[in-house]
Order: sequence, then C-alpha cells, then structure tokens
Amino acid sequence: MPDIIQLLPDSIANQIAAGEVIQRPASVVKELVENAIDAGSSEIKLIIKNAGKTLIQVIDNGKGMSDTDARMSFERHATSKIRKAEDLFSISTKGFRGEALASIAAIAQVEMITKTHEEELGRRLLVAGSKVTKQEPCQAQGGTTFSVKNLFFNVPARRKFLKSDPVELKHIIEEFKRVALAHPTIFMSMYSNEQEIYHLPAGNYRQRIVSIMGKPVNDRLVPIEQDTEIVTISGFVGKPEAAKKTKGDQYIFVNDRFIKSNYLNHAIRMAYDELIVKEAYPLFFLYITVDPSQIDINVHPTKTEIKFEEERLIYNYVRVAVKHALGSYNVSPTLNFGANTNFGNSVDNKRDFGSVNAEYNLKSSAANRPAGQDNTLEKSNLKAWEQIYAGMHQQSEEQPAETQQMLTVASKISTESGEEISKIEEGKPPYQIHNTYILTHIKSGFLLIDQQAAHERILYEENLASLSSHQKLTQKELFPRTIELDNAKAAIMQDILPKINAMGFEIEDFGGRTYLIHGIPAGLTGSADATVLMERLIDQYVSNMELQLGIEDNLARSLAVSAAIKRGKSMEIPEMKLMIDRLFACEVPYKSPTGRRCIVTMDLDTILKQFLG
Ligand code: ADP
Ligand code: MG
Repeated sequence: MPDIIQLLPDSIANQIAAGEVIQRPASVVKELVENAIDAGSSEIKLIIKNAGKTLIQVIDNGKGMSDTDARMSFERHATSKIRKAEDLFSISTKGFRGEALASIAAIAQVEMITKTHEEELGRRLLVAGSKVTKQEPCQAQGGTTFSVKNLFFNVPARRKFLKSDPVELKHIIEEFKRVALAHPTIFMSMYSNEQEIYHLPAGNYRQRIVSIMGKPVNDRLVPIEQDTEIVTISGFVGKPEAAKKTKGDQYIFVNDRFIKSNYLNHAIRMAYDELIVKEAYPLFFLYITVDPSQIDINVHPTKTEIKFEEERLIYNYVRVAVKHALGSYNVSPTLNFGANTNFGNSVDNKRDFGSVNAEYNLKSSAANRPAGQDNTLEKSNLKAWEQIYAGMHQQSEEQPAETQQMLTVASKISTESGEEISKIEEGKPPYQIHNTYILTHIKSGFLLIDQQAAHERILYEENLASLSSHQKLTQKELFPRTIELDNAKAAIMQDILPKINAMGFEIEDFGGRTYLIHGIPAGLTGSADATVLMERLIDQYVSNMELQLGIEDNLARSLAVSAAIKRGKSMEIPEMKLMIDRLFACEVPYKSPTGRRCIVTMDLDTILKQFLG
C-alpha cells in the first residue's frame, strides 16, 4: 500500500485552528483588542458594521510593527510574547499562543496598517485566506489598525451558523465590556454602524464601571479589599438590593483577564448568604491578582478558564473578602461610596478601593438589613408618595384595573393531554396552599394552579394581544419616573421602545440614555415599582435574545416573567378568582411561556382510589 499521510497545507491547518479560536465576530474583537492592549496602547477604538459580519476594525496607538514583524504576525505560532517554555509560567500579556492573527487571516479578508513610533512611513498589508496579497509602504499614525472584512467568507457553514445581528452585537458588546472593565486606564471607544456605543475616558476602576453600566450603579457598589500572601482581591460587589433575577453583570478578572469560574462565583454567592434570596444573582466586579506562576491560563484556547494552584485558599479568601465588604456596608450604610467618580481625578485605584475603614460586623449583618439610613429614607419617601397617589386615584383603586378589561372567560379549558376541564361557576371559593398553589373545584375533582406559572401565561397572552390589537390600558404615574440605561441596553431600547409602549407602557426617550416612565400597563400596577419593572423587563429581554424569539414574542414573554406574581406571595380570594378566570380565558392555559406546567388536575376517581388503598 502506498504511503497516504501528508502534512496539511498551512491554509487548511489555520482554518482548523480558527475553528477553536474564532467562533463568531465577538471572538475577533476579543483577539484584536487584546493585541492592542499587549502593544501598550493608551487609546483603542473599535468600529463595527453589521454586528461584525461586514467589518470589524480596531485602531490602536500602540507600539506598531516593523516590516518583517508585520508579515510574520500572520504566521501560525508567531508571537513576540514568549520565547521559551518557562515563559509560560510568567505570562503578563493577554496573548501568547501566536494563533489569533493566523486564524483570523485564514477565514476573513484582513487589512493591516501599522507603523512604529520611530518610523516615518508605515506599511499596509492585505491578507485573505492565509495569503498575503499585498504589502506596500503607506502613510500612517504610530500604532496599528486592523480591518477584518467578510468574516467566514470561505467557510460558508460557519457563516450560516452566525446568529442575527442583535445577538452577535450583544456578544461583541460583552467582549468589549470585559476588556474595558479590566483596563480602565486605557481610553476606549466603540462604534456600531456609525453610532457611538461606548466612550470610556481613562480613569480608575470605579469610574470605568460607572461609565459602562450607567450612573445608578455607583450607589450600589460596595468596595472590596483583601491583601494576602498569595492573592490580592479588590473591586466591588453590589449591595444586596442590587441583585437581579437574571444572570448578568458578574465579572471576575484574574491578572486583568476576564475569566469564567463557577467555583469563584459560588464563593461570592456564599458570602451573600441570606442577604439575597436564593434565585437572585448578585452584582460584582472582582479583580484578583496572583503571581502568574500560580495559575495556568493555557487550559482553553480562548483563555477564559484558568486553573489556580491554590484553588481552595483563593475560594476562601474571596468568600471572606466579600463577606467583610458586605458586613462593613451594613455597619455604615451612610458612607458615601459615591465619591470620586469625576473623570480627570487622580487615577489611584487603591485610594478609591480603600475608602471604607468601617469595623466589620458580620454576626448581625443579616439581622441588620435593611436598616440602612438611606434605605429607611427611601421607604418613608415612598410612603408619603403612596399616600398622595392613593388620594388621587381612589376611583380606580376601588376596582382593580384588570377587571375593567373585557374578559371572555371560557368555562372549559383543555389540558396538555387534551382532557377537558369544566369550571364550577358558583362553587366554593378557591384556596391558596403555601402561598404558591391555588386549589379550586372543577366538575370532575379539583385543580391545582401554580400561581406564578399561570400568571406568566396570562400576562404573556394579554401582552401579545395588546401588541397585535394596538389597544392598551395605561395606568399613569403621578410623577414621571426616570430610568437611565447603560449604553448597550439603551441601544436595544431604541429598537423596542415603540413596542414596549404598545404593550401599555408610556415611556419617553429623554435623550442620552435616559427615559421617562409616564405610565405602565394597567394590569401591572400592583406588581412592582415602575422603574424596577422596566429594569427587569429589559434584563429579561436581553437574556431572551439568545432564544431568537422575534421582538414581540420576546417582549411579551419578558414582561410576563418580570411582572408575574411570584411563588410565595399571599393572595386574596378575589385575586385568585380573577386569576382563574383569566387563565380560563387563555389559549394555552396549561403551560407557562417558559414551559412550566400551570395546572395539575385530580379527578374524583383517582382521589377515591387513594382512599381505597
Ligand atoms: P499572540 O497575541 O498570541 O502573540 P497574535 O496572532 O494575536 O498572537 O499576534 C501575533 C503577534 O503580532 C503578536 O505577538 C504581536 O507581536 C504582533 N501584534 C499583533 N497585534 C498587534 C498590535 N495591535 N500592535 C502591535 N503588534 C501586534
Ligand atoms: Mg493575540
């Protein structure tokens, strides 16, 4: 038999390697921005067209590349960052594998313009499908500009696999945020389809967090500081009340690199203990510094997972650091954490982190909450406000807004298996079990309703109906409430605002990233504060984008999930009756929009059998 094994041509080998490193436009963004950081840039600009499918451009003012380096940089395993095996144990750069540019050049058309700061003239290279097609001298600024066009032009299967523009853009924004949060001293900006999404002047960590997440986050941050032999932990955790129902703003950085770690997430979660409910996700920005020899970053091609030499110790340090921070916040809730967010202040993170010297008081922390002064103040404001509101709206208070809507209530519904359930019109009142399930009679026996799943279903169908009928019922706020969104969410809001309003909100774009809430859907007045409801809605919408639902479906679902009565909430008989009626009016009464079962039936025969033994 003749010999059949051959070495793969470089272009194919690079394409295969690209499969690991470059999964989507966001991966290109990550690699190029990280290279710009490694090049010592103080300014980095990211320009995106069509969620990176048409163009990804990164402009930096870093050290640039010589003629030979420029050409070499596209070779596989070509790197200036390590030279020998031992260097792997002292990595202080983002990159070191020398794969990114080779991979990108294998699956896209790349233009690179680069000039070192000493040179008069720079150079321009064109590369496509791993081949340098042009290299010529050109005028350039000191630094490097990469333009990556037509990503996956020669890998159609991959291109097809890409998600819609909003989803890909969301991934890009996430990568950009991760790098930006880790490098506050670099001025970074991002444009998408000519619109500036981020403008982040150089500053300290807190300033960077605030300019990315929006001003309201400032009051929700509690600084952490823990210095030990093997690890330094700094950064911020969110006050308990800043925790959210959806995963999101949780960032851990190790030596300025964003990492994913369920283990450390768990440590942080444990520190919150009972300060937040079980299902809530706390907010955090944790910066961990360790000796590079104590970690292995090389476990994954995208370098987002790392191994710690002293994993257990670090777990404990993180837990204790967060617990201390939360404890001291409880002792001195009036401390002004919000100071020093003006840009142009000294870029001195240590001082910013160290602004709390309060004593720790861990034992009483859970019991103390939420006795913070600012909190009480907020509460009494709310009370006063509610009183005014109650006076003004007495008429509509007498009758829940929901009942004012026309309900065509069916007396029969069918279950998932097609079994028909008939209501008893004037039966005994429903009964609530464990503040979670509603028990009610039906002709054949009884029905157990999961109050949360059922309410989600009801609201979902009602929201869809308002979206398609353009008939909405709005409950006006006495005073408009303002809400400020971060850039990413504000960009999404632009797209969905008319539809949100079609569901019964009355929200006005106030310019910048600020929105005025004039009213919320009439049926939801009891469910949550208007701004909280809005925040939840947007968070939920963003996290549902992954499901590719279409705007209306996503919105209807997000609002339903955000506003639904939760398990554990006590309900009065009229409320329960109304809920049963509304559920019976649903088209698909047996499943919540997220797929949970809403009803369980038990017929008299089955009950009887139980007793016969
Ligand atoms: P790695 O970052 O792992 O070294 P890359 O393929 O990302 O590998 O880059 C290869 C080399 O190209 C880098 O080691 C660096 O020397 C050079 N390089 C890449 N991007 C830039 C840039 N923006 N400015 C200066 N040099 C760069
Ligand atoms: Mg790199």
